[in-house]
Amino acid sequence: MPERREHSAWDKLHEECGIFAIYGHPEAAKLAHLGLHALQHRGQESAGIASSDGSMVYCHKDMGHVTDIFTADVLARLPGHIAIGHTRYSTAGDTALLNAQPFSVACSKGRVAVAHNGNLTNAPDLRRQLEKTGSIFQATSDTEVILHLVARSAERTISGALREALLMIDGAFSLVFLAQDRIIVARDPHGFRPLAIGRMNLRSGPAYVFASETCAFDLIDASHIGDVEPGEMVIAGPNGLEREFFTVPQRRAQCVFEHVYFSRPDSIVFGRSVQFSRERMGRLLATEKPVDADVVVPIPDSGVAAALGYSSASGIPFRHGLIRNHYVGRTFIEPSQAIRDFGVRLKLNPVREILRGKSVVLVDDSIVRGTTSQKIVRMVRNAGAREVHLRISCPPTMSPCYYGVDTPTKRELIAANQSIEEIRQFVGADTLAYLSLENLMKSVEDDGQSYCYACYTGRYPTDIVSVEELLASRVRS
Ligand code: AMP
Repeated sequence: MPERREHSAWDKLHEECGIFAIYGHPEAAKLAHLGLHALQHRGQESAGIASSDGSMVYCHKDMGHVTDIFTADVLARLPGHIAIGHTRYSTAGDTALLNAQPFSVACSKGRVAVAHNGNLTNAPDLRRQLEKTGSIFQATSDTEVILHLVARSAERTISGALREALLMIDGAFSLVFLAQDRIIVARDPHGFRPLAIGRMNLRSGPAYVFASETCAFDLIDASHIGDVEPGEMVIAGPNGLEREFFTVPQRRAQCVFEHVYFSRPDSIVFGRSVQFSRERMGRLLATEKPVDADVVVPIPDSGVAAALGYSSASGIPFRHGLIRNHYVGRTFIEPSQAIRDFGVRLKLNPVREILRGKSVVLVDDSIVRGTTSQKIVRMVRNAGAREVHLRISCPPTMSPCYYGVDTPTKRELIAANQSIEEIRQFVGADTLAYLSLENLMKSVEDDGQSYCYACYTGRYPTDIVSVEELLASRVRS
């Protein structure tokens, strides 16, 4: 993953997350731990696991990385055959641990826990209504709203209460819910965020697993048997796997950015290989925006698959001209004599022998604010490149995401405010070109799936509450 960008006020609304759930395994929490480890790229601020042994629900969450939080001692305190897990990237600050998931509460339906990937677009409204009638919120995350709706439901069963709650929330949600004796998972009717189903064959019978991405299944030897469908609720419990639609599915609006950047290339997301999608984006980019150059160099890791595609379609050799250091901590102490572009240099270093004197096609997946790209172009030039041609494997990012991807406000999105020529000058490249929307669609839609492209088009598939309102509600809370 490339370097995280600075936090902005907008980031407070956004939670990029990974979720995992397992039913029917004697070491459920240990497997959830492994699953979260595979989903670490989806969020690095906090992580948590809730487990159940059929009578009690246990929960542990903390700030930091999965491997640091879940020691053997901690896992020993999470017994049971049922578990859910969550890894989260969100705003820093003292409220961060309060917002870490899973949320676990005792209510009229028993002890329950929930973990959520996505953003509820009507959470501020629902929260206001709930507060007016006495609900007390502990965190600022929209996920807590779901728990309140479940707790207040007049339905007697947990699945009935959850069904009712799901019909009241709007926006993006892939949810994993733990009740004492079962897992219930659901996906919003547009299917914005992914949620895959896996199965493990144990001697005692099948165990069922659910995860944001299938790379979590590979690590635990589970086979991918399908996806939770948009508008579907799936229960894994004493009766095996039970599936039902809690609402009529809408036109699919699966997040294309999962394929562009967010998911791991070794995952199958929305039924297709992320690696193949990215290579295809790169191939189409080469056909659409060709350039006469000596070498194709990816910006690691996000640009690697598209650069391979660009190289294979153009015939220009692929070389690793930038090497990434994967062991960069968060709080590096910079020498007082400031080093130019320190942050980027910590992560990336050029291979001068590959770049010197060359005309370089530099490939990345996206430009957001443009600041990182500017530093990398400068790094490649300083390493002796004769020309730098920046190629981006998606269209210009023009509009913020309201469905769970961390994009800044329109004001900070460079492509919302400047022409491609102005961006080229800003980043300092000899040429700059993006993949067209049409070719992005071609890269992911050949199997008849349909996607949300709102970050490129500004056309949102659901009603959106204003940013100011969302922010104001967070400040009040
Ligand atoms: P910048 O040039 O500063 O706009 O940064 C561009 C880099 O940010 C690219 O390498 C992208 O892969 C990366 N990027 C894009 N979206 C995100 C995101 N939601 N979270 C973290 N990094 C991202």
